[in-house]
Amino acid sequence: PNPNEVVLDVRDVTRKFGGLVANNQMNLKIVAGEVLALIGPNGAGKSTLFNQISGVDTPTSGLVQFRGHDVTGKGSRHIAGLGMSRSFQHVRLMGRMTVLENVAIGAHMRGKRGVLASVLRLDRQEEARLLAEAARQIERVGLKDQMLEMAGSLSLGQQRILEIARALASDPCLLLLDEPAAGLRLGEKKALADLLRKLRAEGMAILLVEHDMDFVMELVDRIVVMDFGTKIAEGLPEEIQNNQAVLEAYLGV
Ligand code: ADP
Ligand code: MG
Repeated sequence: PNPNEVVLDVRDVTRKFGGLVANNQMNLKIVAGEVLALIGPNGAGKSTLFNQISGVDTPTSGLVQFRGHDVTGKGSRHIAGLGMSRSFQHVRLMGRMTVLENVAIGAHMRGKRGVLASVLRLDRQEEARLLAEAARQIERVGLKDQMLEMAGSLSLGQQRILEIARALASDPCLLLLDEPAAGLRLGEKKALADLLRKLRAEGMAILLVEHDMDFVMELVDRIVVMDFGTKIAEGLPEEIQNNQAVLEAYLGV
């Protein structure tokens, strides 16, 4: 990716659920090599916006552009195929499979072909290719020594990093992470932040929802703040920290 290339451009995205406006005219851009945090109180509309971006849901109105393509309402498989990868708030690993198998299966399921069709037709060459690619991503995230351990035996911090390895296996240029630091110990958060910095340096665009403000403030390049479905602030971490509207949304002051 070219530095400063706009990877994701969300324009005037609105999502209504009956009378509730979960996303109201949301605008957001992210460029290659940028880490952007989406923050806001519970119910602000963050997950809904993730769903509009990743194609899990379709906006009531507005436009989602990804790498110059209009992907509004295109569906998550199509969008994933263009290079957007998502990790979920709760770990979705197969605990009784190895680290390597988890990543290989992730790569496989995110491939262009349907899961079932490709399972049936998976030949040895294809399998070898998937395992090699999985091993490459596992090394990239620093889990090489755990490659053959059961995913369920890893610490929570390692499992989160494994989820990222799995997300990387489809060779994305945009990662969407939903609360990656939640529940992690300090050392685990540090390891996660180091990994995200490394990916950023490689040109990855990263959009994350995160409640842990210490983690956000010391990692991200820019913050977008939502409340009641609307963007109430946007700026550098130091700007957001002192923003009156943000303090009001969080503290009711
Ligand atoms: P956040 O992730 O910021 O906590 P959400 O995006 O999950 O917020 O929710 C925003 C609002 O939209 C909430 O009021 C929530 O109840 C509502 N909402 C989310 N998804 C749906 C849905 N599928 N149907 C109806 N209401 C929804
Ligand atoms: Mg949410």
